[in-house]
Amino acid sequence: MSAVLERTEAPASAITSESTEAVASLTHITKRYANGVLALDNLSLTLQGGEIVSLLGPNGAGKSTAVKLMMGLSSPTSGSVRIFGADPRHTITRLRTGVMLQAGKAPEMLRVCEYVNIFRGYYPQPMPYADIVRAASLEGIESRFFGQISGGQKQRVLFALALAGDPDLLFLDEPTVGLDIEARRGMWAQIRSLATRGKTVLLTTHYLEEADALADRIVVINKGCVVCEGTPAEVKSLGSALSGASTSRSLKIIRCSTSLPATTLLAIPGVTTADRSGILTTLTSTEPERTLRELLALDQTLHSLEVQSPALEDAFLALTANP
Ligand code: ADP
Ligand code: MG
Repeated sequence: MSAVLERTEAPASAITSESTEAVASLTHITKRYANGVLALDNLSLTLQGGEIVSLLGPNGAGKSTAVKLMMGLSSPTSGSVRIFGADPRHTITRLRTGVMLQAGKAPEMLRVCEYVNIFRGYYPQPMPYADIVRAASLEGIESRFFGQISGGQKQRVLFALALAGDPDLLFLDEPTVGLDIEARRGMWAQIRSLATRGKTVLLTTHYLEEADALADRIVVINKGCVVCEGTPAEVKSLGSALSGASTSRSLKIIRCSTSLPATTLLAIPGVTTADRSGILTTLTSTEPERTLRELLALDQTLHSLEVQSPALEDAFLALTANP
């Protein structure tokens, strides 16, 4: 999958030529939902033009809530949200912003090319159709119905729709969940190429390697609060200092697509946590070889298996662990 946008000059609306005023900011935001859940607790976050910031945190940390506030889809209980110096609900603000929401859906009976062109029609200066197709690697599926393409292809279409307005600011909420590693790396290349054109990107993820691979700056959040913030190297070194090398020697992260329920997974020897997101399940195991043997024996249909060293996961766990 090649990356993609080949314009050599920045578009007229690119952020980089503008003042140093923040492109987007959340200032002392608290968000309490009607059910009483405190999703964000005095959180502040600033995006400068042209940077990729990764909001990294476990499920329930408040990542999607932060994105929805920045999109103007939800209001803060207190605090202020500014996008391009204005209210996120302004039409002008929205026209300069693209979003790929988590669990984004689209009706199934339109063709991919029709979707892209309908979305381009919403904007006064859309991204050229051919640029979108290249940016989201839609070659070969343009005339297919949305309902008849794979999950990974659907993710790419949703990414394409986020680009339709040639946005200066992109919100990508867990854009690679459920993608296999090759598709994930393809999307990383696409996201990087957007940043080189001066776009500002807020990427939420719970994949540490994704934040590490893409972000200029990582903001780790947990339970609605910023836990730490810095370059990927700074966050990793802080995390490993906190977690201590000795605790991680035998720990492995196992990702796979499996139909086994959480109760079964947690009963497998060595498994300490089991977390499902989309079609992928992430396990941590202190006895990875034993866990893998048992896992493969229990589920003959298991696929998309990955085993990962825990250096980054350690950093993350240390930073988001309960005191
Ligand atoms: P993340 O995206 O990091 O997984 P979310 O922002 O989706 O986290 O959720 C943060 C917390 O707010 C969670 O406890 C979640 O259950 C809760 N929450 C999210 N959306 C709503 C909602 N619409 N109503 C009530 N609670 C919500
Ligand atoms: Mg979320």
